[in-house]
Amino acid sequence: MKHSNHLFYLENYAKVLLDVGLGLRSNDGILLSFDEVGLPLARIVVREAYRRGAKDVITIFADDTMNLDRYNFGMDKIFDDMPKFKVDYREQAFLDNYHSLYITSPNPELLKDVDGDRVARWQKCVSQATEPIQHYQMDNKVKWCVASVPGPAWAKKVFPELEKSQALEALWNLIFEATRMKEEDPVEAWKRHDVLLKEKEKYLDDNNFDKILFKGPGTDLEITLVKGHKWIGGSSKLERGDVFMANIPTEEVFTMPHAKRVEGIVRATKPLSLQGQLVENFSIEFKEGKVVAFEAEKGREVLEKLFAMDEGAMRLGEVALVPDDSPISRRGVLFFNTLFDENASCHLALGNAYGENLRQAQELSDEEKKKLGMNTSMVHVDFMVGGPELEVLGIKEDGSQVVLLQDGNWV
Ligand code: ZN
Ligand code: ZN
Repeated sequence: MKHSNHLFYLENYAKVLLDVGLGLRSNDGILLSFDEVGLPLARIVVREAYRRGAKDVITIFADDTMNLDRYNFGMDKIFDDMPKFKVDYREQAFLDNYHSLYITSPNPELLKDVDGDRVARWQKCVSQATEPIQHYQMDNKVKWCVASVPGPAWAKKVFPELEKSQALEALWNLIFEATRMKEEDPVEAWKRHDVLLKEKEKYLDDNNFDKILFKGPGTDLEITLVKGHKWIGGSSKLERGDVFMANIPTEEVFTMPHAKRVEGIVRATKPLSLQGQLVENFSIEFKEGKVVAFEAEKGREVLEKLFAMDEGAMRLGEVALVPDDSPISRRGVLFFNTLFDENASCHLALGNAYGENLRQAQELSDEEKKKLGMNTSMVHVDFMVGGPELEVLGIKEDGSQVVLLQDGNWV
């Protein structure tokens, strides 16, 4: 890859993140999170944001080494203490028309050698502390977008056979393709893609399925959907009309399962990188919506800690359909990164559900939403269940069946 090409695609990336991801408007502010790997992209994002009339960009820097050092050398008590002012700060920003852009560069196994208890405690602490402001993003009260850039450790995990710099170049290349940065006009390409996802959304909404069935090797799962559910694909909308896309890339159409009506067993088809640790070859069994048994060849204790977070962590909050021939999936690469792997595979999420998946979300109280079957939790963890052998059926209230995906792809 020539350097000039790389820079050209990186500039496209910044434009897509602002124009499609955040749907940036004049006078919007941005809370921009990134790390050392994301710095070159973050710089372009800042420049382009001001060119587009952003009122302010607040930069929030993170770093793997500093993060590791905190886990390894920090006092034990700091993993249970998140100062309230940090949460208040973010809330005040949201109320003042700031929106979140996360440029992440996860190392899938960053935390594999640190004390797992500290990791779990800190995750719980952050989730609890930020719970009062989670609804800003979960219910689309502010715009937000998550995107990723590759770092050396992640690239090595994806391409272990390549030498470090080649691995990095190969992963950049994949990410530029998966995010449509090599298209003639990437912003237009994303708008066209959004139209296609909205067609799928409408088809599924028009059918108003009562249940979704997943069938495949090791998987036989019946998911009852919440009454009044709404499928979402592609862009989301703020009440005031701004259109944004919470994930770049996104290939999924997803909706809300009933928290208490999921029956059967499901087998994950890809490893899950969770809190810097890997869980591999696992399956989960549900009864009346709740996890009653689970197995994992590797990382079982990571799942165990997840389920111990709260009651909702043991129930589903999302069911998502992604064809096996999505442009990301076609690459046949395992990304060890949820943002990419979940857009190459049908997936389910344990934990919190998205308010936008309810038709009448605006008019319902939290209590009413819960009554309908919406799951609530401090966590939201997607895991992949799709693949070439998966069949997905939709069942209507009158019992009639429609095959939605066969051999992993849309019928
Ligand atoms: Zn999803
Ligand atoms: Zn999800």
